Amino acid sequence: MSDYKYKRVLLKLSGEALMGSKNFGIDPVVLKKIASDIRPAYEDGVQIAVVVGGGNIFRGLSGAAAGMDRAQGDNMGMLATVINSLALQDSFEHAGMHCRVMSAIEMHQVSETYIRRRAIRHLEKGRITIFAAGTGNPYFTTDTAAALRACEIGAEVLMKATKVDGIYDADPVTNSDAKKFDTISYAEVLSRNLHVMDATATALCKDNHMPIMVFDLDGDQIFERALRGEAIGTTVVE
Ligand code: UDP
Repeated sequence: MSDYKYKRVLLKLSGEALMGSKNFGIDPVVLKKIASDIRPAYEDGVQIAVVVGGGNIFRGLSGAAAGMDRAQGDNMGMLATVINSLALQDSFEHAGMHCRVMSAIEMHQVSETYIRRRAIRHLEKGRITIFAAGTGNPYFTTDTAAALRACEIGAEVLMKATKVDGIYDADPVTNSDAKKFDTISYAEVLSRNLHVMDATATALCKDNHMPIMVFDLDGDQIFERALRGEAIGTTVVE
């Protein structure tokens, strides 16, 4: 345990990360990889909270673009995150890790309801705690839910695992000259409109001094290395 820089962390996984090579839904191979990546730290007693998105299933904005009521679409998006959370819980439990799902929208039959003090208790008891259904409100994203929960539970860092290996000054997929930052300030992320997280999530982290680490989920033992404080990806700080 002493080798770890962080003892309580919040890991944000995008819904799209769960698709793997598919273009919709959940790839069981990815679920297994995430579980095996997390397991060494779990066994060493690092307290791990998780927020997963829903973009692999449904996004409120896409619904709105197709003429749907925005709030209705967002409710569907939040339910998508519950599906992903249950899938992650299943894979964590198959890997021998204790895990609880806590939903921001009450659904007693499938998960506990989010209560901050209970969430902290789960973490203290060594259970991976997955926060489902975003913030429970439309017009927000799961990045904002991740920032909010990270602050609420007193996480030391918000780790955002994505499909890109850090933050660039331009889109690295379309621009071969794009430069990666090792560290960057919240203010710069906001003023340059870099799409790390949405502005609400970034501002919440800034106001509450919550560091954000952005790295590629596909990297080798990536979670372990991030927890040990290795300089991977990009870190957003004051
Ligand atoms: N959502 C919401 N409120 C929240 C979190 C999420 O309404 O607090 C909805 C919103 O429609 C969003 C969808 O859930 O598009 C899925 O979340 P997100 O797009 O953040 O997932 P990701 O991009 O991480 O896969």
